Amino acid sequence: MLERLVGEARALVAGLDVDDLSGAAARELVAGFAELERLAVSGKLLATGRLVASGVGPGDDSFRDVDDWLASLSGTTVGAARAATKASVRVLDQPVVHAAVRSGMLSGPQTELVTNATAADPDAAPSLVDLAQSAGVKGLRSECDRVIAAAASREQEYATAERVHGQRSLRHTTTADGSGMIVMTGPSDRTALVMAALEPFERSIFDTNRKAGNPDHPDAVAFDALAELAKTSAASTPDAKRGGRPLATLNLHVSQAAYERGYTVPGEVCEIEGAGPIPVSTAYRLGSDAIIKALVTNGTDVARVVTLGRSIPAALRTAVETRDRVCVIEGCEVDRHLEIDHNVPYAQGGATSLENLDRLCHHHHGVKTRRDLRRLGPPGRQRLVDSVEYETAFIRAA
Ligand SMILES: [Zn+2]
Repeated sequence: MLERLVGEARALVAGLDVDDLSGAAARELVAGFAELERLAVSGKLLATGRLVASGVGPGDDSFRDVDDWLASLSGTTVGAARAATKASVRVLDQPVVHAAVRSGMLSGPQTELVTNATAADPDAAPSLVDLAQSAGVKGLRSECDRVIAAAASREQEYATAERVHGQRSLRHTTTADGSGMIVMTGPSDRTALVMAALEPFERSIFDTNRKAGNPDHPDAVAFDALAELAKTSAASTPDAKRGGRPLATLNLHVSQAAYERGYTVPGEVCEIEGAGPIPVSTAYRLGSDAIIKALVTNGTDVARVVTLGRSIPAALRTAVETRDRVCVIEGCEVDRHLEIDHNVPYAQGGATSLENLDRLCHHHHGVKTRRDLRRLGPPGRQRLVDSVEYETAFIRAA
């Protein structure tokens, strides 16, 4: 059956005449092939798990092992093939993920993330599979990191933190065409600190470029910002100005119970905004650091803070920042430079309350404001609708 299917798919692709296709027809084709791709990845994964379990190997001496063979077969690196093989073996013991893979709900990268996290905490499988249906790969990765970090024991956390710190490095290499590359690897609170230091520079470069009518890719803006930061730092007099004035602020989100206990359990967080989970032991070290704004949260008590003014009190701001770590628009994964938005604008009677406030990326905030739209949908999975649809939804619900 598979042989016939492959034959038909081959003939279909070979006979594809895209020049005459309308845009809409092309879009349909892309969606169809994407589903075929997911199903193919699922089938390959399930068969690979069985192949590895059977122990028969690739059946060709020129390949070192199944990973090597799979890499050659799929045109990927051996490292990527190894990750896929690992997922294929793990999924055999994970019924919930297994069922999702079988119905073509997960892509290859999603399966690798979900099986990894499920191996650390089996109870997380249903919610991760569910999240994979709406979040992008980046959002799913953050949640999987969170699950793994929360499931790790205190000893494991310390050991991991020590290894990461021990292997820290910053390397600068250049190539003949005149390009240089800096790769910084190490504890994420330190790398996040560098990224946070870029923010004021990024904002000003972004604004200048936009006024000049040629906005750059955010990665290019970050590059210019780091160069600008280095220039500024070099220009300041060494002794007088380096005396500890903080350049940036990192936001640390940590559940109060975890902070008191010393490690996290499932459902709790201890993470740096924009960088992901860190061990609670690292959080202690950061706590004495002036550049850290620690946001210790203990659940819902700020949920009732409502003020009559437009400005947002600190406790409420903290709650919103803690809750919305990425732009709340469904599918958007921006997690830096987030802006707090009144869903129903203050000028139109909207409250300054946890319920009416959300964080949006610069792009979505701009679209919403310019077109006077509203956010609608479950937390973290909202979409932008016009005010008529927004109000209708509430009348229906009432
Ligand atoms: Zn967004």
